[in-house]
Amino acid sequence: MAKNKPRTYYIKTYGCQYNKADSERIAADYQARGMVEIDNWREADEVVINTCAVRQSAEDRVHGFLNNIKIYLAENQKPKPKLILTGCMTHYGSEKLLEMLPMIDEVLPVNEVGFNYQALRKDKHHAFVQISTGCNSFCTYCIVPYSRGRERSRPFAEIIKEIKLLADQGYTEITLVGMNVNSWGLEKVGVPLRKMLMDRGKKILPSDLPENASQYLKPNGTPPFVKLLQAISEFDQIKKIRFLTSNPWDFHDELIKEVGKNKKIDRYVHLPVQSGSNSVLQRMNRGYTRESYLTVVKKLKQADENITIGTDIIVGFPGETEAEFQETVSLAKQIDFKIAFVAMYSPRPGTVAWRLYEDDIPHKEKKRRWLILDRLINRKHLNERPKIV
Ligand code: SF4
Repeated sequence: MAKNKPRTYYIKTYGCQYNKADSERIAADYQARGMVEIDNWREADEVVINTCAVRQSAEDRVHGFLNNIKIYLAENQKPKPKLILTGCMTHYGSEKLLEMLPMIDEVLPVNEVGFNYQALRKDKHHAFVQISTGCNSFCTYCIVPYSRGRERSRPFAEIIKEIKLLADQGYTEITLVGMNVNSWGLEKVGVPLRKMLMDRGKKILPSDLPENASQYLKPNGTPPFVKLLQAISEFDQIKKIRFLTSNPWDFHDELIKEVGKNKKIDRYVHLPVQSGSNSVLQRMNRGYTRESYLTVVKKLKQADENITIGTDIIVGFPGETEAEFQETVSLAKQIDFKIAFVAMYSPRPGTVAWRLYEDDIPHKEKKRRWLILDRLINRKHLNERPKIV
């Protein structure tokens, strides 16, 4: 008797490492239900689209992909696979999404995919390990706190169990993933200013913030994230540890000291600055100043001169004057970043910046600023780009 053909799935992943890690968890969930992953969406029974909403262009790619499916199905008279949308575009809510993208059958909030199964990894040496979900920082331009909700740390024991399993399976490199890895475990410690910011949630305005909130997460004693790094370093089989993404205001002295002395931690540190101008940083609600960012970098270099820094920068944030932009240029020269992910500002509906500020820098000007920074940082270091994962 012929065996039933197993049902198949395909996952299309857009965006950052965080989404890639989520897709590995989603794959594990499918596998546990007896479904088989295939690498051609045209043959799949179910297609998961793990979306990015960081810029309009990222959303446009999702629309383009759905359009391709529509055309293919019409031309080949194929039955429609079940289409499931997850990731950052879920901030629109199911109702709006199903209205915007009528082809979608189901919206899956990614925080509903738990850690019940070990992520299904394709790489056999390097593994992403998620240590937290969501974000409490409410940078004014960012959709993540709305799409992924409040920050929640995965329990220590669960993370260590996963690392042990990976080490036993021969994995040697680990990248710890979270929107703000440095604050891992702090929601249980209870730090007053952070709680105040969380309680204000969506209502937070840039003017509500202290000029420099860089100390607000400073815990008493060894921060939980440092303890986690130390525990992972105990595994002999694990040779390299990376973490993404760090926030400058949480890069406290104890963490700098640990990075300096623990050589299993990669010498490349990714530390998003977004702007070199204090007035822009304040409009972005980034919670640190140019000066406090420079202090973190200086301390990292003092901890180990071999440490290199990479960053994320947004150009053309609302109201960014030429003088403010030049402050970012001068910061880039001062720090000599090895790599920068430079983005042109794109308003995200629902964010504070979208509500409060006019997107008043013309695209041509954003592009000019983008090119200046790309030349200054990325083209200069073309041959020495750090390995990010
Ligand atoms: S820290 Fe800011 S930019 Fe990063 S995910 Fe949170 S809100 Fe977004």
